[in-house]
Amino acid sequence: MASRPTTTCPRQMPPVELQGGGSRRAPIGKAPFLRYNHLTTHNHDGGPPMPDPDVIQFLQELVRLPSLSGQEEAVARAVQARMLALGYDRAEIDAWGNVCGIIAGARPGPSLLLDAHMDTVPIADPQRWTHDPFGGEIEGDRLYGRGATDNKGCLAAIVMMAALLDRNRLAGAVYVTGTVNEEESEGSGLAKVVDALHPDYVLIAEGTALALGIGQKGRASVLVEAEGKPAHAANPGEGVNAVYKALPALLRLRDLPLRQHPIVGSELAELVELISSPYPSNSVVPFHCLARYDYRMLPDETKEDLIARWQAVAGPEVKVSLRRQQVPCYTGTVLECDDFHPAWVTPPESRLLQGARRGLAAIGQRAADFAAHYCTNGSYSGGIAGIPTLIYGPGIMQHAHRVDEFVETEQVVAATRGFAAIVEGVLA
Ligand SMILES: [Zn+2]
Repeated sequence: MASRPTTTCPRQMPPVELQGGGSRRAPIGKAPFLRYNHLTTHNHDGGPPMPDPDVIQFLQELVRLPSLSGQEEAVARAVQARMLALGYDRAEIDAWGNVCGIIAGARPGPSLLLDAHMDTVPIADPQRWTHDPFGGEIEGDRLYGRGATDNKGCLAAIVMMAALLDRNRLAGAVYVTGTVNEEESEGSGLAKVVDALHPDYVLIAEGTALALGIGQKGRASVLVEAEGKPAHAANPGEGVNAVYKALPALLRLRDLPLRQHPIVGSELAELVELISSPYPSNSVVPFHCLARYDYRMLPDETKEDLIARWQAVAGPEVKVSLRRQQVPCYTGTVLECDDFHPAWVTPPESRLLQGARRGLAAIGQRAADFAAHYCTNGSYSGGIAGIPTLIYGPGIMQHAHRVDEFVETEQVVAATRGFAAIVEGVLA
């Protein structure tokens, strides 16, 4: 269990290499945001403030900055600049290129981290797009572009929600992060921020159509390898064919018993790659066979459990292991981890979940609960660090990674209000 800060100042950012931009410390309280009143409009009846279209303009700005995994620098700079303009106490970029903004509440209390990844998948089929993937075009209620749903609508909303916060009401600290390389390795960018700041609660901003994700399946890349002995294919008896050696194990793994979880559902294990060596082979009996599985996990499975269970089913002729990932960051550093991203579930009694529900109810959002079948950065916070975690955001996953990706602007505006309401529900 992470400790809680006892001062009105958030914990110091880690002593990482700052990449310019510096920091700006504003006095605690409502005053710093008064300069930004143009960001909110107040109902004539004195009702809650509403985000104005600036969040949509900021989303357009972000969509117009391409940010493939490992190339997020321009987006990080735009986020940092916007945070400083909004009056965040600090906004810094760490050695891996994550940007982290800090907002201190008026009183001591726990810390809540809101995270959205900054990277996007590539454009696979540009000629099929009917909108410029980097145009941020708005047609009706839809804003089009790569990353509109996954994940720049979320990123714009968590950054801009600060304009709606009344810091005098907050006890604790808010961290807002734009993280790198989620599309390559879920949680490995966020891990650097979480390990430095030790937040008490984490809210992962991903498209949920404004539902509250209370858990998710995990994901791992499981390797199954057989070693053989090369020989000329004209004399196969002198070698050991690694593919033949692996096949019985692969067939047994096809029937791996899949367990169920009452919240996140069923495990899945799918063979996605099968590679023999040498390849191409000029009349050589393969000396190596590598199979890779995409494995969707349930909560509480450790690396050791996974390998022992798979090895027991596969048998002694093959070796089971986890793929190692090395993901280069735009800063020149490399994120390194096992391709193992565990599942997690946040219990109903969690202060995070109760506070989020309370906050959303206060603005009239009735958020249904669900468990994500996909993997998010929450694998690190919820699955590895054991920090209570939720998922929430505008847009739906079915619109992600697609031709003519879009997000509904109304959802982005509603989510901006929702993020601020969750912060106040948890920290006020
Ligand atoms: Zn995403």
